[in-house]
Amino acid sequence: MIDFKLTVLGCGSAVPNQNANPSSQLLTYRNKQFLIDCGEGTQMRMIKYKLRHRKLDHVLISHLHGDHFFGLVGLLSTYHLSGRQSVINIFAPRKLEALIGHHFQLTGTILSFPLLFHALEDYKGAFLYEDDELFVRSFPLKHSTPAWGFLLKEKEKKRRIDKAFITAHKPEVEEIKRILNGADFISNDGILLKNKTITHDPLPPRAYAYCSDTAYAPSIVKVIDRVNLLYHEATFDNSMQDKAQQRKHSTAKQAAMIAKQAGAGKLLIGHFSNSINDVGVLLKEAVEVFEHTEICREGETYPVAPTN
Ligand SMILES: [Zn+2]
Repeated sequence: MIDFKLTVLGCGSAVPNQNANPSSQLLTYRNKQFLIDCGEGTQMRMIKYKLRHRKLDHVLISHLHGDHFFGLVGLLSTYHLSGRQSVINIFAPRKLEALIGHHFQLTGTILSFPLLFHALEDYKGAFLYEDDELFVRSFPLKHSTPAWGFLLKEKEKKRRIDKAFITAHKPEVEEIKRILNGADFISNDGILLKNKTITHDPLPPRAYAYCSDTAYAPSIVKVIDRVNLLYHEATFDNSMQDKAQQRKHSTAKQAAMIAKQAGAGKLLIGHFSNSINDVGVLLKEAVEVFEHTEICREGETYPVAPTN
C-alpha cells in the first residue's frame, strides 16, 4: 500500500474549462490528509473520484485568487450539514478568515464543528503542522498577491534493525528500542555487536512540494531541496515569457529549472493558461531542462516515492 500520495482534484488555471478544473489536491500521509487549495467544485470532484476524506482536518490555501479557494465555503457547509464535530484547521492568508466568517454570519450558520484559522503571515518558516513522522511548512512565492508554497516532508527516520540479526539473536522489545536509539548489543555468548553492524541506514525522508502560483523564484530552491515530487505551475510556454513575468506566473521551462536546481525526483506541471492549445509544447520545453517532468492529470494519484 502506498502510504504517501497525492491525488490531483484540479490543476487548471483561473478560467475553468471542460477539461480543467481549478486548483485542488488531496495529500495523504498514512492516516492523515491535507487538502491543498480548494478551487470551485473541489467537493464534487472528491465525490467523482470516490475519495474518502474523513481524516481531512487540515486545509492549506496558497493565496486569495478565486481559483484556489472558491470551493472552501461549499466544502465547509457540507461538513456542517453532515454534522461534523471534529476540528478543521485552515492555514491561509489572513483575509480569508473575515471572508469565511462573514459568509457564515450573514447566512446565520453556526458551524457544527470548531474551525481554527491560522494566518500564513504569522509563520515565517515555522512549521504549520508537526507530529512524530511528518512536518508541513510554508514558504513565500512570487505572485501578484501574497502567495505561499507548501512543503510536506517526513522527519528523519531511525536506523533499521537487520532482520537476520533479529532472527539469530531474538532481542527483547526493550533491547530493540535501545538499538534503535544507537546502542550496541551483547549476545548471549558475550560477544559485542556494534550498532552499525546490526542496523542499516534509515531510508531518506520523502517530501512533496506545491508551488502555485508563482513567477520564477529561485529563492524557493533551498526550501524544496531534493523533494521527491514537485508540483510547479507552468501557466505559459516560452513564447509567452514576457506575459509570464508581467502576470507573475511561470513558463514550463522555468518550472523545470526550479525542479532541476532543487534536485527533485519528479516534476508535475499544471495551471496552464486557456490560451495554450497544445500542452505537449509545454511538456517538451520542460523535458529539455528536466527529464522527469509529467503533465499533471486531474483524478490521478501520484506516489511520493523515493527518488531513483
Ligand atoms: Zn493566482
